[in-house]
Amino acid sequence: MTANSELNRVELLRAVAAQVIDEASEELRRISLDIHAHPELNFQEHHAHGLLTDYLESKGFDVTRGAYEMPTAFQAVAGSGSPTIAVMCEYDALPGIGHACGHNLIAISGVATALGLKAALGDGSGTVVVLGSPAEEGGGGKVFMIERGAFENVDAAMMLHPTPGDAAWANVIAIQSVEVDYFGRNAHASAFPWMGINALDAMVMAYNGVSLARQQMRPTDRVHGVITRGGLKPNIIPDHTSAEYFIRAKNPEELEELKVKVKACFEAAALATGCRLEYRETNRPYTDLVNNDHMAGAYAGHLAGLGAVSASREQALSSVAASTDMGNVSYVVPSIHPMFGIPTMAGNHTAGFTDAAATPEAHAATIRASKALAMTALDLYLQPERMEAARAEFNANLRR
Ligand SMILES: [Zn+2]
Ligand SMILES: [Zn+2]
Repeated sequence: MTANSELNRVELLRAVAAQVIDEASEELRRISLDIHAHPELNFQEHHAHGLLTDYLESKGFDVTRGAYEMPTAFQAVAGSGSPTIAVMCEYDALPGIGHACGHNLIAISGVATALGLKAALGDGSGTVVVLGSPAEEGGGGKVFMIERGAFENVDAAMMLHPTPGDAAWANVIAIQSVEVDYFGRNAHASAFPWMGINALDAMVMAYNGVSLARQQMRPTDRVHGVITRGGLKPNIIPDHTSAEYFIRAKNPEELEELKVKVKACFEAAALATGCRLEYRETNRPYTDLVNNDHMAGAYAGHLAGLGAVSASREQALSSVAASTDMGNVSYVVPSIHPMFGIPTMAGNHTAGFTDAAATPEAHAATIRASKALAMTALDLYLQPERMEAARAEFNANLRR
């Protein structure tokens, strides 16, 4: 084939992917709204798992339900040969505020992208694997999927996430969540206060200790907590208090250093008050996300071709910092996690964002971003030198 006819072939297959995604848009909209109306928490996403796997099967994917020893994870495969590219779906919600992170849109974006790729690739040009990953909001479904081999034969991984603006690069930092309990001794708070050991004092002291320590933290560090049990009644010296904390830093190395400082604050309060401390790390730590520049740049280009402008790499990597278990995936295979803009004044994890995630405008943005993601994957499938470039960049980053 001449260079020109090769280019025409790539253009044609991009158009095929985009057309198939458009044709599926109405069905995907129904699935998105159904998931939105049935918010499910970490590892309990049975309704969403059922909707997505049934749909993918009806579209000819080879579906494994309850994959990787998790009832709400799945794998759906189409095409054949190499390379193999994984497209991630998420579909968990948040307590109390439903789909305030818009994972209903992530769910259909993964399916839309894969539908486009399946149609464009046919058989023999490469394999697309849709990975349904539960419990992104703290449960670390992808960390378990990595450990259980989900990415062993995967050459690259990608997914999309809604937010108030478009950015092909995501600023993702490492996170460890912890639970803390103090155990003291009850006493009548007026009659015999000297007989008590005050577990609330310990918690307040620890909360303030962490707040003071914040001055010496790096600008990229984040520590934030809530007290979930503070005592029962003012006239009872509390014998048991609890808190949950998230500890975040730029990368796993800095996270380890920060964890030592934060834990010292909790230990100091136990020593000062005479309480017993229980300190538990409750998730598998999430790493930062190593954005694959080659893939992210390609995504930004395709998005521009579809009429939306991504923030520059510099803008994106110096803006909003959050955490995701996609970070861990990016340590295993070349990965991107573009953020796509949906019209809203509200940030993620607010009731306003929940409302925004159900609008027709957000759906249209999801469809557009899915097309750009499918085209980014097609670059890797159809142009081996681009897959090689993404892989070389990943290897160079690993050595750093
Ligand atoms: Zn979230
Ligand atoms: Zn999210």
